[in-house]
Amino acid sequence: MTKRSDVVKNVRFRGRVEYHGEALALLERPEDCVLVTRGVDRELVMKCPDGCGDTLTVNLDSRAGPAWEVYVRRNAVSLYPSVWRETGCESHFMLINNHIYGFGFSSIDEIDLTDAFVQSVLQQFEDRKKHSYYEIARELREMPWDVYLACERLVKAKKLEKADPKNKGIYLMREKGKQ
Ligand SMILES: [Zn+2]
Repeated sequence: MTKRSDVVKNVRFRGRVEYHGEALALLERPEDCVLVTRGVDRELVMKCPDGCGDTLTVNLDSRAGPAWEVYVRRNAVSLYPSVWRETGCESHFMLINNHIYGFGFSSIDEIDLTDAFVQSVLQQFEDRKKHSYYEIARELREMPWDVYLACERLVKAKKLEKADPKNKGIYLMREKGKQ
């Protein structure tokens, strides 16, 4: 059983190395994570944040199989999409700006977004068409998580609505006066 006190809330980004072995050597604390980059980003190596003790190697290179996207901004690391372990502890988490979110971790509702940013996302829907948050993130060169959260907050504020019940990532401007 995992003790709650072992759960990692904030990761410590140790920087980039070229080889997996070098990354492992830098995992000194449970919250440490290291990027392996040779020409392109290859993998993110970290301890499982739920405290089970496993070392996770998150693939970032689409040539090597299913790959995550990594974002490094002001020394803060994010992974997109979420990591869902199919083996071992089966932990499911999101890594956003060095923080771990998800069930058993912090809530993504705690993430701060500026009003200006949320408005810039809303503007993308002024053409009255359906858009996926991922497509908008590409358009605005923003991190998908930030745009996803902005869309979800705009749904709560009744500015947007979900366009397709089968595809949670697609939104539409909400018609005025609709309850
Ligand atoms: Zn685990």
